[in-house]
Amino acid sequence: MFDSHAHLNHQHFQADRAEVLLRAREAGLTGLVNVGWDVGSSRLAVALAQPEEGIYAAVGIHPHHAADASANDYAALVGLARRQEVVAIGETGLDFFRNLSPRDAQVEAFCRHIELAAEAGLPLIVHDREAHEEIFAILARHAPPGLRIVLHCYSAGPDLLDEAMARGYWIGLSCNVTYPKATGLREVARRVPAERLLLETDCPYLPPQSKRGRRNEPAFLRDALMTISAVRDCPVALVERQTETSARDFFGL
Ligand SMILES: [Zn+2]
Repeated sequence: MFDSHAHLNHQHFQADRAEVLLRAREAGLTGLVNVGWDVGSSRLAVALAQPEEGIYAAVGIHPHHAADASANDYAALVGLARRQEVVAIGETGLDFFRNLSPRDAQVEAFCRHIELAAEAGLPLIVHDREAHEEIFAILARHAPPGLRIVLHCYSAGPDLLDEAMARGYWIGLSCNVTYPKATGLREVARRVPAERLLLETDCPYLPPQSKRGRRNEPAFLRDALMTISAVRDCPVALVERQTETSARDFFGL
């Protein structure tokens, strides 16, 4: 299993990170990307990276923090992006559900991350909450051809899947695919081509149905894998291998 979007750099893992990783290994984890949401968490993601062990980092400023981002912060990201442990830029994007930063600040930050990814030659991790139309429009306008893009924790539904595929985006599916009400996500899981499908926990958030109310962790990714295998009517081992391959392809590993 490859967890393409985790936050072991979150304080919820400060006390037991080593045990969490051990459990993940026992559950079959072979690779993981810790994703930053501000400069501090991006630095910690880089510090936690162990490329020889399959642990990598992504650096970026979450749309929640877009309004606070300074020129120094972006300069820090540019520096971090040169590190060989860093395999993606993000997470970035738009969050029009919580609107913790004003929308124009989010849009500006998103565009700067697109530029940064293009300049660094790294793929882009996109957070989209209730902003599907704007996200698709901005990417169409600003993302250069060939930029690898994942719509992480995909929530744009089956309707936008064909457009995302036509544009060559990757789709990140999280453990919320196991929730009883997530019929749209399971349809996406059934239809997305294997080479475009990434698995992710987004831990500590979004635990699978069997662990609702608890802290999510990479070992629980197997729940998502089981559900996705079932809806694709495909052996678990095959989906596991396919999604590892697509993750390595996406991150250029
Ligand atoms: Zn995240």
